[in-house]
This record gives sequence, structure tokens and C-alpha cells, in this order.
Amino acid sequence: MILPSKIWLSSPHMGLMEQKYITEAFDTNWVAPVGPHVNEFENELCSYTGIKNAAALASGTSAIHLALILLGVGNGDKVLCQSMTFSASANPIVYQGAIPVFIDSEKESWNMDPKLMEDAIIDLKSKGESPKAIIPVHLYGMPAKMDVIIEIASRYQIPVIEDAAEALGSGINNKKCGTFGDMSILSFNGNKIITTSSGGALLSDNKEFIEKARFLATQARDDAPHYQHSSIGYNYRLSNVLAGIGRGQLQILDTRVGQRRTNFKRYVEYFNKVNGRGYQVEFQPEPENCFSNRWLTSILIDPERNKGITREVLRLAFNEDNIESRPLWKPMHIQPVFKGAPSFTDGTSEWLFDNGLCLPSGSNLSEDDFRRIEKVMDMVFK
Ligand SMILES: *Cc1c(COP(=O)(O)O)cnc(C)c1O
Repeated sequence: MILPSKIWLSSPHMGLMEQKYITEAFDTNWVAPVGPHVNEFENELCSYTGIKNAAALASGTSAIHLALILLGVGNGDKVLCQSMTFSASANPIVYQGAIPVFIDSEKESWNMDPKLMEDAIIDLKSKGESPKAIIPVHLYGMPAKMDVIIEIASRYQIPVIEDAAEALGSGINNKKCGTFGDMSILSFNGNKIITTSSGGALLSDNKEFIEKARFLATQARDDAPHYQHSSIGYNYRLSNVLAGIGRGQLQILDTRVGQRRTNFKRYVEYFNKVNGRGYQVEFQPEPENCFSNRWLTSILIDPERNKGITREVLRLAFNEDNIESRPLWKPMHIQPVFKGAPSFTDGTSEWLFDNGLCLPSGSNLSEDDFRRIEKVMDMVFK
């Protein structure tokens, strides 16, 4: 049997300018992890988000790693991290020999529960410890409760590293995600809302952090004619070629946000009809004053309220037709690799993981793609 062409969960979507910027990099021979596109991309990230300083880096993961290094996180330190996220939020904590403490989600945005976060801080304090940093995440582009998280964090004087990898274009009260943390990180991996194929950035209003990040990201070379080093460096800078792609992508970011939000609306209209037939499929809520880029549209299918249908039934039905969908992030506190890490949980993220599914959400989905997607859903939700 020949399968129909694959419909991806979220695939790259180039605009009109990316190729031109790549050609420019070649024509000027800036084919290196340094060059005019890198500088301009950083400036343009600042103007888009409103942050004062940005360092273009090789990945979102390397951005989190550098942020932890800049905060002096080291051996045996504790770092609070949202449990429901991609493993890249937590891995760099372990690179530093530190210990992640996983915090469960609240139900309003599916992100770090500020109450459980404070419980964790109080618990650590009672043992004479204090977390060195807090890493909240904006899951699928939905802003976390940053006002409460930051209020608590500053009360205990703990710096916040905002993982905005999935949330470029999102915001709270018209303030852009990526501008709330003491440092914030972005990702431009292939599946994100805009991509440089691979890449990331570290953002901060604190100039010192960003200058130090650029220094560490380029092998920590001291100011000398020969290669002189007085600290350990990293090879974490973004290529000038890839920064060219990023510049093109940034120009159409708002269009991409619009397209993703239109996908979301289409799914909402579809499931309004389904729910009219006795089902109760739910969406990731968008709390008041929040604006989500709706990077991935994600739904909850509680079998008890959906005639026994589980998210797995829908996922496998999609799979049969070569359509990619995916369960929500499996929480870090139940991942084999983080077994034994401390956690503050109340079952929310496990419930979300068991019942949640990310639907195909690319900004380049066609009308034909949507017809195929809806045909499969029609078969499942009869
Ligand atoms: C993608 C992602 C990252 C890592 O970004 P890379 O550029 O892939 O290294 C970190 N955190 C979250 C929440 C992500 O989705």
C-alpha cells in the first residue's frame, strides 16, 4: 500500500528573504560563526522582543547551559525546573553537575505551578539550602504565570532563566515572552515557530551577562595576539549562514504566529461540532492577558468523558494515514534518566501527559492537509 504524503507535526516554513541572506553570506565569504548576519540577527531579536541584549547561539540547549554557568551553578547545586517540558530544559543542569528539582504544572496554562515552586523553595530552605535558579517554560507557546513566579523568585532572591524556546511571538499584557527572566532563551530548531535549521539565543537586559555569554560561546579567548585562556570555553556561537536564515524568518514571524493561531481556530471550530455530539475534547487554555503563538495546538481527550476514546486511539488513527501527532511532553520527573531527582508534584502533568495530544500545527498546512486530518478525526469521533 502506498501511503499518502506525510503531514508533519511542525515543519520548517521558509519565507522569501532567507535564500537572499544566505547568498549574501557566501558572496561576502562570511561563512563562519561570526559576521554581519550574526550581529544584525541579534539586533533584530532585540527590536522584536524589546530586550536590550541578545547573543545568537548554536542552540536553545547551549543558551540554557551558558545561563546556568553565568549564574555560577555548579556541583551539587539545586535548580528548580518545570517538569512538563522537553528534556533540553533540564539536561544542562546536569551538565553542570547540579541537581534538577522538578516542579509540576498548574491547570490554567499547563506550566510551572507557582505554589509548588514556593513549596520547593521553602523545603530547601528548611534544609539550609536555596535553589540557584528557576527554569519555567512556556509550553507550546502558552505563557507561564510569570508575574507570580517572578514575584516569588525575587522575594527569595533566586534568578529566573525563562525557557521561551517554544514561545517566540507570545506575550503577557503585550510584553513579549523572552523578556521576563533575568535571562531568557530562544530556540530556532527545525520544528520551532521560526527556524535557522538549528540555533538559539540568550536574551537579557543585563549587558554583562550577554557579553560574557558571547565570550564563553567562542572558546573564552582572552585579549591577546596568541591563544590565551583563563577560563573554560565553549563552541556555542551561531553560524553567520544560519543567522541569515534567522533574519529572513524573523521578518515573517508575525505572519507565522497568525497562521498557527488560524490552525488553532480551525481545530476549535471542528471540535465545537464534535463536542455538540456528546464529546468533551478540551484545548490548552489561554489565560487572561496572555497571548499564545499557538506553536502547537494541543488537546485533552479524557476517555471518561469521550466515550472511551483515548489520545492514543486518535494518534494511531493519524499514524495509519501518515499524519504525525504526538503525546504531550512526558514529565521529567517520570523519565528514566531523571529517576531519583527530587520533585514537587500533584499529578497534574502526569494526567496531562496521559490524556494530551499535539495536533499537526505547521504554518504551512494546506487545505488538503486539513481535509485529510479532519477525515481521520471524523472516523474517530463518530
Ligand atoms: C526546543 C526546546 C529547547 C531546546 O532548544 P534546541 O535549540 O533544540 O537546543 C529547550 N526547551 C524547550 C522547551 C524546547 O522546546
